[in-house]
Amino acid sequence: MTDSGEQQAPAAPALRLACELALSYLETLPSRPVGEQATLAELRARLGAPLGEEGVEPAAVLRDLAAGAEPGLIGSAGPRYFGFVIGGSLPAALGADWLTSTWDQNPGLYAVSPAAAVVEEIAAAWILELLGLPAGASVGFVTGCQMAHVTALAAARHALLARTGWDAGELGLQGAPPLRILAGSEAHVTIFRALRLLGLGTRSVERIESDGQGRMEPAALARRLEAGRGTPALICAQVGNVNSGACDPLADIAALARQHGAWLHVDGAFGLWAAASPRLRHLVAGAVLADSWATDAHKWLNVPYDSGIVVVADTGAHSAAMSATASYLQQRQDGGRDALDWVPEFSRRARGFAVYAALRSLGRRGVAELVERCCGHARRMAEILAAEPGVEVLNEVVLNQVLVRFHDRAGGGSADELTRAIIRRVQRQGVCWLGGTTWHGMAAMRISVSNWSTTADDAELSAAAILTAVREERAELAGLAGRAG
Ligand SMILES: *Cc1c(COP(=O)(O)O)cnc(C)c1O
Repeated sequence: MTDSGEQQAPAAPALRLACELALSYLETLPSRPVGEQATLAELRARLGAPLGEEGVEPAAVLRDLAAGAEPGLIGSAGPRYFGFVIGGSLPAALGADWLTSTWDQNPGLYAVSPAAAVVEEIAAAWILELLGLPAGASVGFVTGCQMAHVTALAAARHALLARTGWDAGELGLQGAPPLRILAGSEAHVTIFRALRLLGLGTRSVERIESDGQGRMEPAALARRLEAGRGTPALICAQVGNVNSGACDPLADIAALARQHGAWLHVDGAFGLWAAASPRLRHLVAGAVLADSWATDAHKWLNVPYDSGIVVVADTGAHSAAMSATASYLQQRQDGGRDALDWVPEFSRRARGFAVYAALRSLGRRGVAELVERCCGHARRMAEILAAEPGVEVLNEVVLNQVLVRFHDRAGGGSADELTRAIIRRVQRQGVCWLGGTTWHGMAAMRISVSNWSTTADDAELSAAAILTAVREERAELAGLAGRAG
């Protein structure tokens, strides 16, 4: 800490400390245990205190906060966290995120932050280009894929009802003509929450059968569309099944949507990033033909939370569903971008800066390499694990997701129980962290590789740690069985 006299900003001592704390966290991130190191009660005790009558000095607040939180932080930004689909933070994105907080801009209106508006505009164009989406589409920067769905499906609701002569913005849904909603049997839970929030409900959703990898069956979709001809339809497809990583066949689905005048929405939270790789983009072929897309920057692009992206081809429907006007707002100043036309929020964080920084630091090739590298690590882990007797990889590893199931070699034991016990053991060990799921009725370990900093060594070390846990768990079971017998 320096004492450079009058020039120093009042925030300087606290912010220098924050920077030191942040850097020392990042330095230990690759080697610290990945899982939590304290119980709920311990964390409450470490961090809890009555709110004092008098305030505490900023640097002391930060020092205490970092020390108290430390054992309850999950190494999810680190290289051996394979739980859920999380991703870390690229250095440029993290730095831009620090600056975003410092600048404290509100990008809702061009007039309130011209720089934030222009950076969003540029980042939006880069994203459309990278993901192979229509150049004229409109883009909104939201908290995550969940709110990207809400935004996109609000645009869909608006457009589909407008075709029947109904103004959803003015009249709402009371007495509105019916809409059909079709979604794959493995659609993500956030689709259903978006439908609930939009007043469309979930009961009427027609679930379309999927194949063994979780991909929507176009023939089943065709039959359903045919059966309900005449009613405006919304189809929710996905690329990047949250368990298997499988992608719905969008070209076939889009052709059916066209034929029936349906709105096609694509949940591409992480899977849409396959489009950035020449080697993987065949998985999302036809994506360009959809009407709306939801994806994340905080997952595979490795931008800090929270950062999601919504894209809508029909810019008129998008802004009709979102925009707001008031006499005191200075809107459309100098033809600049007013972000509040494209997202549900009014005031919000200037998320475009970190997205811009991530994309610029990687370049087109860097994004492709990031995606391909993660997929390569996933394949390698699957290969190492599958070589072990009694270890079964349940999915085709087409992307960054691996589903693994463990069988008791002695037979008799339940594979579900053994799989869950091995997941808990790996989590306790702390070399890597991954979670569990139920895939087509079977318990499975779920490995997601989406961090920029994961190396081939991390992948191999983690696969080895999983195999150690398998041997230990089996040895313990055999010991128990021996004692019982
Ligand atoms: C993560 C995920 C979501 C939700 O994204 P958030 O950014 O957490 O809101 C939606 N769909 C899929 C397929 C996902 O993987």
